[in-house]
Amino acid sequence: MSHAGFNPEKQKLRDIGFFHYLVHWLYSYLEPKIILKLTDYLLEKKWLTNTRWGKKLMLQIARASKDLPHGIVITLEAAERVVDFLDQLEGPDDGRFALGPCLCQLATCKWEEPLIKDIQFLYAKDIFMSLKLGYKMASAGEVKEILRKCNALGYIHALEMCRQSGRWVFCICNCEPRVCAPTRVFMLTGEMMWKGPEICQSDLKKCMGVEKCGKCIERCIFDANRKVNGRIEVKLEKCMGCGLCVPTCIGRARKMVFRHDYAHGHQVPAGILLGEMVKNHAG
Ligand code: SF4
Ligand code: SF4
Repeated sequence: MSHAGFNPEKQKLRDIGFFHYLVHWLYSYLEPKIILKLTDYLLEKKWLTNTRWGKKLMLQIARASKDLPHGIVITLEAAERVVDFLDQLEGPDDGRFALGPCLCQLATCKWEEPLIKDIQFLYAKDIFMSLKLGYKMASAGEVKEILRKCNALGYIHALEMCRQSGRWVFCICNCEPRVCAPTRVFMLTGEMMWKGPEICQSDLKKCMGVEKCGKCIERCIFDANRKVNGRIEVKLEKCMGCGLCVPTCIGRARKMVFRHDYAHGHQVPAGILLGEMVKNHAG
């Protein structure tokens, strides 16, 4: 049986070879049973997360894990575009998506609703359907509904790939920051999550001020806000591009714009993630 993967250079489907499928299958089998459990165990150890030497060790471990899943942080709109893009690609028509339980929650037994929010696609959909972990085939519409639900809860959408290659892109995670192992690793080490193709722009004049509002500070887990004379502006160097602060901003002071130094276009082209925004930028 052949399995469909993504070809980022040609932006179309390609057949996944036996070796690729086998390696990813083994990883997926071990991920909830060992890898995520072990990561959670390490992240619970104060001597690793609160001491200088512990943090250095965690950084080395995170860097050594470069072949494990890394995620591009994307907005809800970009995640929906990925779903539409995959859905309309020409190729085998046996379904593109499987929806199942969040693997971090399965591994750690830290429960946050909704449990069913892991979106596997293409060949990874075949892998997870075979692993009997509770995955079900889902339509593009069902997947987008889950994305919107998670977005409203403040979960971060991350487009995941193994081996740092667009040929291994396989999943959209909806990361609950207190549970998600890769997000917690990122918060500690700065590794395993990448800035997406959008960045937040803030208009200080429209900001209602921290006394009246301050919602962006609560919403942004990346600490990408700073006070300027009682108002809040974005720390551009820290913004990961999740877009979560935009609908929260009661002063309508925020919008997402194209990130000029988006560094992952060779893995997932900005055109797929941003649609018209890229065209407008080019024009
Ligand atoms: S500033 Fe806004 S868009 Fe940027 S990381 Fe924080 S919440 Fe996300
Ligand atoms: S959410 Fe908007 S209005 Fe509220 S403090 Fe932040 S930037 Fe200002």
